[in-house]
Amino acid sequence: MKGRLREPAVSLLEDAGLGPESPGERALAFPCRNAPVDVLLVRADDIPEYVQDGVVDCGITGLDLVRERGSGVEELLRLGFGSCRLDAAVPEESEYERLEELEGATVATVFPRLARELLPVPVELVEITGSVEVAPRLGLADAIVDLVSSGNTLRTNGLRSLGTLFRSEAVLIGREGADTGQLVAMMRAVVEGRAHRYVMLNAPESRLDAICELVGSRSPSVLPLAEPGMVAVHALVDASRVWKLLPELEAAGATSILVVPVERMVS
Ligand code: AMP
Repeated sequence: MKGRLREPAVSLLEDAGLGPESPGERALAFPCRNAPVDVLLVRADDIPEYVQDGVVDCGITGLDLVRERGSGVEELLRLGFGSCRLDAAVPEESEYERLEELEGATVATVFPRLARELLPVPVELVEITGSVEVAPRLGLADAIVDLVSSGNTLRTNGLRSLGTLFRSEAVLIGREGADTGQLVAMMRAVVEGRAHRYVMLNAPESRLDAICELVGSRSPSVLPLAEPGMVAVHALVDASRVWKLLPELEAAGATSILVVPVERMVS
């Protein structure tokens, strides 16, 4: 990986114990500290082919690129970063309102395969290699199909989205038949860990049912405290739920609530 996926991908390797042998390594290739793994930093665009051709056993790239290339590789693990959408978009002032209305329109994209496969109606595709967002203004196309992350590029170019064709994120891919089991397990443990938090709290025993229901864990640990009638509850929760959960726990009678990160999770 290189480009926008580089930093988060290297940080995932670090967290999985596969950091470079010499810290701060910036080279194009580096051997890992703790495992017999060599990391090669190359453009995300090139990775599906490198993996398919057996130049490397596995790679981190965007799911959009894997699908667009139709690469014969295995998708081993979604990595939880580099999220973006492949959207169809049109100039603000145009009359298109729905994807179906694009029938017969000219559509510029660097993703011809996905556009053809995922647009609900046949269109005339104009395949270009970059800066798709300027195509309508140049009179090259009525609409575009392009990746959208924050939506800034669409806005800056006076475009609005008509709809999403595909959701992408960074993915670990492997060559068919390559022995990647241990690497996948290490990375999965980190990706799963990042998606969770460990919550610890104290509560009156009389509120235990309500609190267990709120944390929603199948089997929270419940420990007696020295203070009579009080218990500690420990549970694993989805990281995305924490924001909403904390005030609910407080309202249900929980005190001394601690939320800690999970380094790895092997279920
Ligand atoms: P944004 O302005 O954040 O919506 O980003 C849109 C621009 O960045 C478009 O030109 C896209 O081609 C590019 N882009 C957005 N997300 C990704 C991604 N995950 N991988 C590669 N290019 C992306």
